[in-house]
Amino acid sequence: MPSPVKRLPADFSALERAGLNLHAVLAFDALPAHLAADLRRDFAPAHACRQLVLIGNAGRSMWAAMKASGIASADPIDDFSVRAVSQWFAAQFPAHRYTLLYPGDAPVGLQTLGALAGWHRPTPFMLGILPQWGSWFGYRVALLTDTDLPPTEPLRAASPCEACTARPCIAACPAQAMAEEGFSLERCVAYRLQPESRCRACCVARDACPVGREHRYDDEQIRHSYSISLRAIEQYFPSMGTR
Ligand code: SF4
Ligand code: SF4
Repeated sequence: MPSPVKRLPADFSALERAGLNLHAVLAFDALPAHLAADLRRDFAPAHACRQLVLIGNAGRSMWAAMKASGIASADPIDDFSVRAVSQWFAAQFPAHRYTLLYPGDAPVGLQTLGALAGWHRPTPFMLGILPQWGSWFGYRVALLTDTDLPPTEPLRAASPCEACTARPCIAACPAQAMAEEGFSLERCVAYRLQPESRCRACCVARDACPVGREHRYDDEQIRHSYSISLRAIEQYFPSMGTR
């Protein structure tokens, strides 16, 4: 009887060198049915949907690699990440195809995908947290592919927030967005829009978390990312800026 064909794991080393050091391969058939249906409807891939490949960055290395690349772009993180991933995919899987889900115009539930990969454990300020990296990681690229890679085991470590009794992030938030049950997006947004806000280009609560502190993003990266999110807030909540 022939032995089963062994599926070789992908070689992610080229992405590691670009600081894209978080990877997960999810079987498309194992996604929740509504999520799979939404992806088929929104992206209409012109190839078989076998896997979803999620790629992230953790720590400072992606920003350093992006700067070293000399990329000139209005959105350098997205453009650098997509370029690195498309080159990696073409080199690794020349006979295969992919559809880019993220970044792009159609909304994609990144935290839902992150939860399936075991990356997303929510903090009080709503970002995810990982024991090794703290909140200093992010979702960079998501692909639907026709590949046949071994699926990744989800990360299973407990959330650092479960053992954090002091919860300094909650006390640090100048808007008291977490002072009551849950997270008040309205308080956070209203505060960020104030001209003298301390959160126009950062999240003070995120910065107060001691977990993974050594992986905190470079100041320039923090300013860059939070300035983009502030512009989006100004666009979506124009009336709140006058409060
Ligand atoms: S300070 Fe504590 S509760 Fe807040 S995000 Fe960090 S580990 Fe979680
Ligand atoms: S951005 Fe500022 S207001 Fe919003 S949660 Fe973070 S610390 Fe609080």
